[in-house]
Amino acid sequence: MSDPSSEFNLASFKEAVRLSEAAKSSSFSISAALAEQQEEASTDITSAVEIEDVEKFPSLSDLYLEKRKWLRIRNVVAVSTDLKDSTALNFDKYAQTSARLYQAVTGSVVRLFSLFDPQFIAIQGDGAFALFHGELAFERAFCAAASIKKFSLASIGPLIDEKFSDSFPDSGLKTGIASGILVAKKVGVRGTNEPIWAGKPVNFASKCAQGADRHELIVTSAVYEKLAPNDYIDYSCGCPNGVPYPLWGEIEVEKLGKHSNCMRLGSNWCETHGDEFCRAILDGKKTREDVVRTAAAA
Ligand SMILES: [Zn+2]
Repeated sequence: MSDPSSEFNLASFKEAVRLSEAAKSSSFSISAALAEQQEEASTDITSAVEIEDVEKFPSLSDLYLEKRKWLRIRNVVAVSTDLKDSTALNFDKYAQTSARLYQAVTGSVVRLFSLFDPQFIAIQGDGAFALFHGELAFERAFCAAASIKKFSLASIGPLIDEKFSDSFPDSGLKTGIASGILVAKKVGVRGTNEPIWAGKPVNFASKCAQGADRHELIVTSAVYEKLAPNDYIDYSCGCPNGVPYPLWGEIEVEKLGKHSNCMRLGSNWCETHGDEFCRAILDGKKTREDVVRTAAAA
């Protein structure tokens, strides 16, 4: 299959080779290299860019590389998750266990994201993020995030306790969700053309995740407003006494500045009703007879 971006890959690769050869030559000068990059940056900063609104989430081959053209996509939902205390995972002292934990976490997170039909997934640092767009994007993003939360609590936490020494840091996944407008383009000179997703969703979701503790999920207030009308997401199943209660509580994420008012999910998929609730949410169901909302309860 021919890849339309392969000529761009080749151009990027040639550029990378030229830069790396230049650095090795005896005439290499860092001041000349910086002057060249100032020139490049000045051109980039002063050149007009084209922004095209797209309704459908673009595939990677739709994104521009050479051309100063960005695609703008509205109502994108980003889920970001990363390992707690990853700086404490020590590749000197605990190289074996740390590497095995990374492999287990990134592998399973990508597989869990994949279950909910994301438009894009990337492993980033010690975690991963996924983008959801289109039909039931908020619901799919929620189910992915809730499943990662449960996986962290029920699988990663116990596996660390059971398999690793007591001195190994308590770790687990911290997860966030945010939504909004993204602009996308490919940028690359290293022989790879990395897609860039610029805008609030990925940035805010990552800050929500940073604000969470292990096994926690935090969403922005804008995301919560979309999720809250859904009884399956906003209220518990009723276990153990048959009375559904509200699942979310307020939390501040200071790094989000004026958007710091966020909401934290205080539960996990129920052992008894998790399958039924996840299925209902993905089927687009919203209303339950056992949930009675009292207006202005405060
Ligand atoms: Zn239940």
